[in-house]
Amino acid sequence: LQDFDYQNVLVLGLARSGEAAAQLLYDSNINFKINDLTPLNENDIAKRFHDLGIEVITGEHPFSVLEEVDLVVKNPGIPYHHELIKEAERREIPIITEVELAYYLIDGPIVAITGSNGKTTTTTLIHEILNAAGLKPLIAGNIGKVASQVAREQNENQPVIMELSSFQLKAINELKPDIAVLLNITEAHLDYHKTMGDYIQSKMNISKNQTSEGLFIYNEDDLIVANAVRLTDATLMPFSLKKENSNGAYMYKEALYYKGEKIMDRKDIALPGDHNLENVLASVAVAKYFNVKNSVITQVLKAFTGVKHRLQFLGEVQGCLVYNDSKATNIKATLKAIQAFQEPIVLIAGGLDRGNEYDELIHAFDYVKHCVTYGESAMKIKEAALRNHYTTITTVDNLEQATIKAFQLSEEGNIILFSPACASWDQFKSFEERGDMFIELVHKF
Ligand code: ADP
Repeated sequence: LQDFDYQNVLVLGLARSGEAAAQLLYDSNINFKINDLTPLNENDIAKRFHDLGIEVITGEHPFSVLEEVDLVVKNPGIPYHHELIKEAERREIPIITEVELAYYLIDGPIVAITGSNGKTTTTTLIHEILNAAGLKPLIAGNIGKVASQVAREQNENQPVIMELSSFQLKAINELKPDIAVLLNITEAHLDYHKTMGDYIQSKMNISKNQTSEGLFIYNEDDLIVANAVRLTDATLMPFSLKKENSNGAYMYKEALYYKGEKIMDRKDIALPGDHNLENVLASVAVAKYFNVKNSVITQVLKAFTGVKHRLQFLGEVQGCLVYNDSKATNIKATLKAIQAFQEPIVLIAGGLDRGNEYDELIHAFDYVKHCVTYGESAMKIKEAALRNHYTTITTVDNLEQATIKAFQLSEEGNIILFSPACASWDQFKSFEERGDMFIELVHKF
């Protein structure tokens, strides 16, 4: 690891990212130990490292694991108010996440992407464009591999495109991307971040170490973002759906422009919805940094229809266009999905109740002819729908019943949209499992 001057590392919390961090340390001959809550006899990853001769402490988080440790690599899921983290802070031991550990090894341009919504879509789209241009980019993030694994496989100068959550960004000390992208900031994860200020600060950490040599591509239309970017020293490049600007990507008269030059007509962009145009603008700006030709950019944008479970088009079934947006785990994402269509919508929504109110959906329901709702939050979504007199509402128990009902209620030319506005954990393991079930159900029609 270059510029890495820590001798005794604690990997705290295994799972996917902890395992990759441990492997990277092991391969780099750096002393480390592991602390994970799952007992050794049920913990295959811990067992594997134990068998390699690594010190492994499982089943509890005693303060003694911090002895002689000079760096903690924390699983992003472990909150900062955890007793052991607080103790590490008291002892002034730096705390980073796996992504930053990987950063020490990456040798080549880094594009880092964050935002409340759109990270995976934008990361994937940038990857597609740079790939089509022959740059052999690597993805580190939700889709594909974790950063440490990518770092181990990277050859010189292959660009690394990193998707970064606010959990990962909160622990940034030295990460310095060549290009940072900030898509949007909406209220999210306040259970973890406690305050909106802390959440915004974490997002802005993406640019914390950038200087004027670094580029910071940001959404000028997002007021919170436009305000927050004043904190960076990087060179700013705005993008906008609403405003022309001489210095970045924007939409003007139904066409996509970059620095005054027209790239293509909006109608030729395959991704649906205005929100996706934001992701497109950010991606085009990154592509231009790498000098990708317009013909390559347009070819990809004509073909790229999105990532699975993100407003994914499933086809025309019984005269309706059916979309799977299982990744819409918050209200904002569902709002964007509804706004993506002109046709009448039959919406399927519901899932885990996190104590949210759904008032924000009331106006959007102007475009929702029927809403079928299920799961823990069904009654709250019903209350919001009832306050919009256009929408009729049906409550059922589960997604299977909801899908059947949605097809019964729909007419030719409608959109059937599964965009739950809630997390999946009341009835599913993950949004992927939930989306896969919806796809399976739709294929039966
Ligand atoms: P993330 O990785 O940030 O969760 P995804 O690309 O997986 O983002 O998309 C998550 C959800 O947010 C999807 O339902 C998608 O339709 C919606 N979405 C995607 N891009 C945006 C955007 N720029 N603004 C708002 N919502 C978006």
